[in-house]
Amino acid sequence: MSEEARLRERICTLAASMFDRGLTAGSTGNISARTPDGGLLVSPTGTSFGRLDPARLAKFDASGRQVEGDRPTKEMPLHQAFYETRGRTAAVVHLHSCHSVALSTLPDAGVEDFLPPITPYAFMQLGRVQLLPYFRPGDPAIGDAVRGLAGKRSAVMLANHGPVVAGLDLEGACNAIEELEATARLAMLLRGQTPNMLSPAQVADLVRIHDVAWGAA
Ligand code: ZN
Repeated sequence: MSEEARLRERICTLAASMFDRGLTAGSTGNISARTPDGGLLVSPTGTSFGRLDPARLAKFDASGRQVEGDRPTKEMPLHQAFYETRGRTAAVVHLHSCHSVALSTLPDAGVEDFLPPITPYAFMQLGRVQLLPYFRPGDPAIGDAVRGLAGKRSAVMLANHGPVVAGLDLEGACNAIEELEATARLAMLLRGQTPNMLSPAQVADLVRIHDVAWGAA
């Protein structure tokens, strides 16, 4: 099996795993990954994460021209903005995951620090997560909002919509978006309580050791 064929299988397996665990429902969620030849594989529009077909993924060549597969997700501008502004990006994942969406709608949701400092793992995998305003799905302005961050964030939360994570590899991007949703779930569980959070010094220590996206956007 070629490297690209393995990547196609991996995309579909990881998407199905997220779908099976309720991380995105119906025909929501989209995923893309760089191919060894500098192209891009993208999940098609209107398809369920539970039933992606490796042979029908949209394939773009290195110049951005579609050469194979079904029509890509209408949220392509979102994916492209991460590839354009974060040069080492090898995969982008977007979910409509329940707890992070719930957290994004709260009036006191953090904008520059969407996730509260509950566990170290979110910081180790995501750095600082920026909350972006609501946009109509597929609105090219979403891409502009991500470009506005100038590559300084690997993860954003689209208010009332869902998270988006760019990773240095496919598995890393999937693991990180799962961590984002798990942390949002903890935040929702802890609402109205006064948990012991990580201290600023503990967060700074993680950021220093793990070299994640952190500086001012
Ligand atoms: Zn979406």
